[in-house]
Amino acid sequence: MTPRLDGLAALEGRGELGYSPPVRYYLETFGCQMNVHDSDRMEEVLHAHGWQNTPTPDEAELVIFNTCSVREKAEQKLRSEVGKLAPLKAARPALVIVVAGCVAQQEGERLLKQIRHLDLVIGPDNIPELPKLVTSQLGGSPKTARTEFDLVETHFLASSPQGGKTPVSAMVTTMKGCDERCSFCVVPYTRGPERYRPVDEIIADIARWVEAGSREVLLLGQTVDSYRDSSLPSPNTGDPDESQFPFLLKRIAKEIPTLARLRYTSPHPRHATPSLARTHAELDVLAHHVHLPVQSGSDRILKRMIRRYTREEFVERARRLLAARPDMTMSTDIIVGFPGETDDDFEATLSLVREVGFTALFGFKYSPRPHTPAKKLADDVPEVVKAERLARLFAVIEEQGATHLQSLVGTSQEVLVEGASKMSRAEMGLRRVQGRTVRNEIVHIEVPREAHVEGQLLNVDVVRANKHSLEGQIERENLARFRRASQSESPRRALPIFAS
Ligand code: SF4
Repeated sequence: MTPRLDGLAALEGRGELGYSPPVRYYLETFGCQMNVHDSDRMEEVLHAHGWQNTPTPDEAELVIFNTCSVREKAEQKLRSEVGKLAPLKAARPALVIVVAGCVAQQEGERLLKQIRHLDLVIGPDNIPELPKLVTSQLGGSPKTARTEFDLVETHFLASSPQGGKTPVSAMVTTMKGCDERCSFCVVPYTRGPERYRPVDEIIADIARWVEAGSREVLLLGQTVDSYRDSSLPSPNTGDPDESQFPFLLKRIAKEIPTLARLRYTSPHPRHATPSLARTHAELDVLAHHVHLPVQSGSDRILKRMIRRYTREEFVERARRLLAARPDMTMSTDIIVGFPGETDDDFEATLSLVREVGFTALFGFKYSPRPHTPAKKLADDVPEVVKAERLARLFAVIEEQGATHLQSLVGTSQEVLVEGASKMSRAEMGLRRVQGRTVRNEIVHIEVPREAHVEGQLLNVDVVRANKHSLEGQIERENLARFRRASQSESPRRALPIFAS
């Protein structure tokens, strides 16, 4: 039987709810993978109380926006989306509207004053309290802001895979918060100081996902490679930047041998130590790809950003990781137009992108964020210059990315199939699915329509490069096996894994 909240049951019993239970909720997520992960946990918490999701706010008693404040644009979009609900709230005053996540943490009670039709503001560490707080709102409690960090008793919500909804690639949190204090970044303010999840909890979470059918795990943390846990061996290298992250990776590989692939994001370059590179060389389960955010290629700007490495140090660390596997690739994050960035500083960034040979990047125009040290600096790079620099940066990475994809045409790649292709089109007896290589390239493949390939590792011949993805064909020998299998099996039964 589904556990219910006492308060909610009492309200239902007294007929004091303005709707028929169960509570229907609409949840919209903005921002990074950490937010997507938090939203998944939020849904699990709500489902555990028997609440159900709806596809639009119109049918909901509860609307939640899980928000991002890393960039000004994301915050503006959130405010606009919440603003659109004012007429719905006026028509249905019992509707509960919640802002969760980083904007909630950043603004707290201020948000309740700024957005008059908002009922509840809840920070990332308070997700377990969500049903209780919403129940109070449904019962007529005053507007509330709950944004306490769990500094004394840190907790991480365990995953509870839902039947039929297990992702091929599952996200697992390893830590929260950040101690870095980069001058442009609001995360230390919205997520608090670093707190690490015990290694046994991480392993148990991964085991649950793999048991439920996930094949890949993406480890999440604001600086995922600064991980520490007293139960892991001490690094003893004398390097102050050394962490226990490589030991975490090794424990996962050893204790979950059925895991097909392991990725992580985002590492801080400071902790990209020799032992991390060696671990990439040793562990077959690790993806042959690292996303290593650099932010700028100019020492002067890196110093103003308080990134705590020089360009030379970054290049050395990136090269060490790239050398761990012959086919290793790297992507990065870059901010253009940081206060004081000159043409020469930006040229240094372009030359770094070429020097390291990134195959992809996320580029952003700088925008001042509240509570950050950089907000005190003059935002002195004109918008038009920021836009022009971003366009030049994208032109360079498009060229490098295209050259890399083209180099894969004619090769055979092992592809983990994730689901239906976004570039789907019906062909005779075939359907299109998409997956990723061991690095991170997206590959579209045509497979027999009745074949169940989601979650399988397929050997695929790359036949063409698109702008941002590859086209693959199942190797002839395997296609013949598919056809034989589909002729001999009941059409309703999934075809066997043949290349795992
Ligand atoms: S490492 Fe820097 S950019 Fe990344 S979350 Fe921490 S403060 Fe923000």
